[in-house]
Amino acid sequence: MLLLDRLCAGYEGSPVLHDVTLAVPPGSVVALLGANGAGKTTLLRVASGLLRPTSGRVLLDGADLTGATPNALVKRGLCHVPEGRGVFPNLTVRENLALQAFAGSETAAIERANQAFPRLGQRLSQVAGTMSGGEQQMLALARAYVQSPRFVLLDEVSMGLAPKIVDDIFEFLGLLARDGASLLLVEQYISRALDLADYVYVLNRGEVVFAGEPSELQDADIFETYLGTA
Ligand code: ATP
Repeated sequence: MLLLDRLCAGYEGSPVLHDVTLAVPPGSVVALLGANGAGKTTLLRVASGLLRPTSGRVLLDGADLTGATPNALVKRGLCHVPEGRGVFPNLTVRENLALQAFAGSETAAIERANQAFPRLGQRLSQVAGTMSGGEQQMLALARAYVQSPRFVLLDEVSMGLAPKIVDDIFEFLGLLARDGASLLLVEQYISRALDLADYVYVLNRGEVVFAGEPSELQDADIFETYLGTA
């Protein structure tokens, strides 16, 4: 279980998150929704060790990992796929995957990436920065996948992509979840995220204003009030 316990965090004296508690139980998909600037990215950055909270705790399977480095969290099975494609643009697809292969062989990593996105397997020698935006996002997801993560934080991974690619990415997220990973999903395609999610949190100005099952969210006034959509 990933538990964010009463987190407060922000930047240079400007507070963003206020007393946020959020749980990602094993084997679950949790959607994190909220308007622009609500603090979703900030929350993911705290959870993956990129930003230290001013108070509160990050607990992974009961261990207090507040302030641990991103690497330490990766070693415990937590991966963060950041907004804007986490790939090395000057390296080839093969090299990008090989860098993640510390848990196993490069061949196994490539096989696993190919299983997730066969398109990547055909482009192993291509320099990542020359691929389309969708292909780069697939590579970013594959880099997480080859580590067999237990928890994956996903920040708007479908942003700006063509509908067919968004379909492929959501299919992959379903595969990842069926594989046993727990997902914390920040997503602009709200209905797609809710289709996949077991649980949903809505953030507004750094506070949790709704926590419940997707079906409960449909009944609440949350859409109109906080998500700007009916
Ligand atoms: P979006 O959907 O637009 O990505 P978000 O919910 O992910 O929004 P955050 O990116 O977490 O929101 O931003 C929350 C607040 O923190 C915003 O007011 C933003 O301007 C501020 N902020 C984010 N990153 C920084 C930073 N590096 N330095 C200073 N302020 C920041």
